[in-house]
Amino acid sequence: MKSPSEQDWRRLGRAVTGRVLRPGDNGFGAVSTPFNRRYAATVPAGVVSVASTVDVQRAIAWARDVGVGVAVRGGGHSYAGFSVGPGLVIDLGALNTVSASASTGLVTAGGGASMSTVYAAIEPCEMAFALGNGASVGIGGLTLGGGYGATSRVHGITADALVATTLVTADGEVLRCDANENADLFWACRGGGGGNFGVNVSFTFQAEPVSDCATYVLLWRMEDAEKVFSVVQETVRSAPDAFAARVGVSTTGADAIVSCIGQHLGPASELREILDPVLSVAQPFRVMIEDRTYWQARDDLLHDTSAGAFAARTSVLTQPLPDDAISAMLAQVRRWPGGGNADGGGAALFSWGGAVNRVPVADTAFPHREAKFLLSMDTSWAEDDPSAVVDANLGWLEELAASMAPYGGDRSYLNFTDPDLKSWRSAYYGNNYPRLAEIKRRVDPDGFFAFEQGIGS
Ligand SMILES: Cc1cc2nc3c(=O)[nH]c(=O)nc-3n(C[C@H](O)[C@H](O)[C@H](O)COP(=O)(O)OP(=O)(O)OC[C@H]3O[C@@H](n4cnc5c(N)ncnc54)[C@H](O)[C@@H]3O)c2cc1C
Repeated sequence: MKSPSEQDWRRLGRAVTGRVLRPGDNGFGAVSTPFNRRYAATVPAGVVSVASTVDVQRAIAWARDVGVGVAVRGGGHSYAGFSVGPGLVIDLGALNTVSASASTGLVTAGGGASMSTVYAAIEPCEMAFALGNGASVGIGGLTLGGGYGATSRVHGITADALVATTLVTADGEVLRCDANENADLFWACRGGGGGNFGVNVSFTFQAEPVSDCATYVLLWRMEDAEKVFSVVQETVRSAPDAFAARVGVSTTGADAIVSCIGQHLGPASELREILDPVLSVAQPFRVMIEDRTYWQARDDLLHDTSAGAFAARTSVLTQPLPDDAISAMLAQVRRWPGGGNADGGGAALFSWGGAVNRVPVADTAFPHREAKFLLSMDTSWAEDDPSAVVDANLGWLEELAASMAPYGGDRSYLNFTDPDLKSWRSAYYGNNYPRLAEIKRRVDPDGFFAFEQGIGS
């Protein structure tokens, strides 16, 4: 990769209406720092915060001309730091306009819009589609990698609601992609992963009317963990699709908490009945089960962590974990090696399936259409923890994933990106990978959009 001269950078600054920032410039950190501080040492040579589609075209043309690599940044939350690189970052943060029509239910979001901006635009229309629960997560990364939300078992993944997207390709062409136009690219943009095929400057979704619902939070001590995990899995299996659960265990070393959190697209009375086996297996020390409007439920579930540095592994499960797997998982959580990040380490099962599984696997690039649960295993550390602590945490996570491997499949969730995953092609994409690689060869023949775990790499 070449290193652009000062003159080159000035030329980029003149070519775009957005801002070009270099290390040391005011505001550089805000548009270049990865959410996951594990990658804090990666500092781009420059960032262009584009103001329009034309800016994106000019940034791509400039990068090609000077021979510098690019990374595309939506919300900047890639678990693997894929939206930052040593070359030019194309920051889409200013492409954050969202429009929503109550009459058609169509919602169009700029390529850099955040979850909270999208929610703010759709709330007055009383319409929604499945969205993630991190307020500052970008719609770009979420949609392109799939996008699971608490309502996905009824509404599908975020990408299932996508009806069109506009993409700037590696040769600067602006392509509208939908079911009829550039249908292959439209297919790839529904689960094929961000940063692979071009810069998506806008996304249009079909939203559905919302209804009131109920949310819940249940907390237990660690001694109840075995029973709780087991019964929650059974509850999810027999519950209607309207019910969603995340059952998790997290530890900071001194203490460990078991939690079951979620939403039901129905009244709290119905939710209490669904949760009855969970509530009776072990008495939680905290119980919250409430009727909520759809938007109150969003606020209950929306969160942003302080994050620091972290790593995650996932396993897409087509069957519940048997009791011996739960015991092995909990035993490893008890052995968490410690670290300076308040998020600690742990594991969680998310209820998957429902409407998501009613879409045929080859209809979109997202391949996990037979899943029942997502098992997510994670750990974290402070940026100033010594390298021995980091190594211990990564080693611990590796052991946890290895102990769960016999129970899960060999599939992982792309949006909880795991840069240490060797079999990522089949794990993220299953049998859809060859078609993605073929589309990549066609739309980006010289691999301009390239990164570790990029399609075609
Ligand atoms: C606090 C938190 C909560 C989360 N909650 C959920 C959740 O509820 N459900 C869920 O499914 N996932 C969730 N995630 C995971 C999230 O979906 C991924 O981290 C996602 O990739 C983040 O997208 P981003 O745009 O913020 O990140 P970025 O790092 O900007 O982008 C991720 C990848 O997509 C590319 N990209 C982003 N935007 C574009 C674009 N417009 N055009 C082309 N390429 C683009 C980037 O180059 C990068 O490769 C959560 C993550 C966090 C940190």
